[in-house]
Amino acid sequence: MNERDSEGVGALLRSKGYVLVADEAEADIILINTCSIRGLAEEKAIGKADHLLRARREGKGAKFVGILGCMAQNRGAELLERLPDLDLIVGTQRLRHIPDYLSQRLAAPTPVAYVDTAHEEGFEDALPGRDDGRQVSAYVSIQQGCDMKCAYCVVPKTRGPERSRSPESILAEVRALAENGTREVTLLGQIVNQYGRGRFRTEGGISPFVRLLRSVAEVPGIERIRYTACHPIGYRPDLVAAHAEIPQLCAQVHLPFQSGSDKILRAMGRPYLAERIRRLAAALRASRKGMTLSTDVIVGFPGETDADFALTEAMFSEIGFEQAFLFKYSMRPGTPAEPLGDTVPVDVKEARLFRLQQQLAMQSTTGNLRQVGTVQRVLVDGPNRKGGRLAGRTENERRVIFDGDLSLVGQFVDVDIARAGETYLDGKLARTKSI
Ligand code: SAH
Ligand code: SF4
Repeated sequence: MNERDSEGVGALLRSKGYVLVADEAEADIILINTCSIRGLAEEKAIGKADHLLRARREGKGAKFVGILGCMAQNRGAELLERLPDLDLIVGTQRLRHIPDYLSQRLAAPTPVAYVDTAHEEGFEDALPGRDDGRQVSAYVSIQQGCDMKCAYCVVPKTRGPERSRSPESILAEVRALAENGTREVTLLGQIVNQYGRGRFRTEGGISPFVRLLRSVAEVPGIERIRYTACHPIGYRPDLVAAHAEIPQLCAQVHLPFQSGSDKILRAMGRPYLAERIRRLAAALRASRKGMTLSTDVIVGFPGETDADFALTEAMFSEIGFEQAFLFKYSMRPGTPAEPLGDTVPVDVKEARLFRLQQQLAMQSTTGNLRQVGTVQRVLVDGPNRKGGRLAGRTENERRVIFDGDLSLVGQFVDVDIARAGETYLDGKLARTKSI
């Protein structure tokens, strides 16, 4: 989501004549888009801004430094206590006003920080755009904010109430992208499978989200549809069935279960039981051949015992998630869990995290090795970071590296998989198809 926001702000500024430089050292203006999900993310952003502002005091580097996004929203003017000479603090809902603030601030005779973390009505339908160049794979925001109250989570505070964008505006963006060569879209929101809640109705058992998926699938040129993030409660039968019915919908689903212990799930404010995750995983796998599942897990939530963690570990291996974001609990000020304290010692959290990471490495390696000897349809992203080869992704988001010409970037190709490791498949071009 932050990537999409940064892309929007970049495009907006370029449309006003600013130029994006490849190297930070050449920049006159640096805007840091920030994440608040864990304490570490905020500390990193503050450290970065502090470093830039110190350099500026010595007459070096960027002349203008701003902080955008979630941390700006979360902390607002309080950031000036840590970073008194920041130029700009703009929250998640006011990004499209940045060019105005920049020009006002640049013209001001004495430096004053511009701080804007206001709530903006209707901004879900009026987000900053994007550049004209072809994007093979694009993020499309369909929803802002979140009305769930997961006890650990700062998102409702930083992204505001849940608001869904209109299908007309989403489809217009997807059509424009497809006409410009986009082949894969990822629909973005905090809880996308509840898209439309409070704005559009479920009709005949079909939710607004599934209707939207069907409409996106009808856009000529769109061959892959993904969505993130989603909540287990949003996987109702119509969405599970959609994976069987809509060929463009990828056979890869994110099912963030957070914990395998019902006691911890209840304390986290996650309104499901571990058993529901098992049933959902089975239903999703049954809906589509080759379906892979990914997840998010938090270890060390207050009150998590060894026995609770054992349940998480058991579920993680039983379902066989091949991709996962694994987090140590980070207490966030202002969240419902704050009063519970941070009771699990750091070394215990680390040991639990390490066990899950080991398990994940095994599961993804096993999944990848199973692909050896198959032919995979790969969307080519670009040159691989090293070795002069190409890199792309399968429908299951497995990374594939192979030899090929740069002219294949943005196309679908078939690749014979010869080898595999924990994070990649390695193969050679079978035959190319131009789309
Ligand atoms: N809206 C999405 C994701 C939100 S944040 C969802 O509900 O799935 C992404 C992930 O960060 C969460 O799924 C959770 O696993 C993790 N996370 C959120 N707050 C956290 C915290 N305080 N400490 C550790 N991990 C956290
Ligand atoms: Fe946070 Fe996701 Fe829960 Fe919303 S649904 S509060 S974004 S974890």
